[in-house]
Amino acid sequence: MGCPGAGKGTQSARLKEVFNLKHISTGDVLRAEIASGSSLGQQIAGLINQGNLVPDELIISMLEKLVSTTQQGLIFDGFPRTVTQAQALDEMMMRLGRQINAVVMIDLPESEVVKRLSTRRLCKECSKPAATATQTVCECGGELYVRADDAPESIKHRLEVYRAQTLPVKDYYKNSGKYVEINGNQTPDEVFGDIKNVLEKIK
Ligand code: AMP
Repeated sequence: MGCPGAGKGTQSARLKEVFNLKHISTGDVLRAEIASGSSLGQQIAGLINQGNLVPDELIISMLEKLVSTTQQGLIFDGFPRTVTQAQALDEMMMRLGRQINAVVMIDLPESEVVKRLSTRRLCKECSKPAATATQTVCECGGELYVRADDAPESIKHRLEVYRAQTLPVKDYYKNSGKYVEINGNQTPDEVFGDIKNVLEKIK
């Protein structure tokens, strides 16, 4: 978990390698649907570009398909984003005989979020952010682009949505014994080190 720009995607991509996990980014799944050009994708694009959340039922049924077809350990990135999603995840895990081992919240001050998102450029191929402001293509050779929902008005609205709909998820997990907060206002390596330490204790 974490607000927009906290580093969820960056950290998940690294953690999946170290812990051999399947990385499920709901944002990436939604962007793939948009790229397919389907009519559902067009509806999703409307919501995402405005900085709104996609309806819970759609996210939950999408997740159900991905989770029920694998036995591999999972890392969810950007899910759950509402209390309804968190409840549905608990129910899904129980039904599939699985469990949640850790809920990692990457914490970042809002001033830093705006700074990061308004300069962010991502790779079309591997989704990684550009490492420097002057870089013209990704290290993997992919084209860099600015996400439509990283426009200033969308960033502002995404933060409002985050406060109203996603922050309550923190309370949902806070007393579960699985919730950990990590300082996201550090270098990616430092954030990664902190998360890895926590997860290694659980393993
Ligand atoms: P992300 O790539 O995680 O920043 O997600 C980009 C956008 O996709 C979000 O701002 C939402 O519009 C949508 N989205 C991603 N995950 C979810 C989710 N779990 N529930 C609802 N909408 C989501």
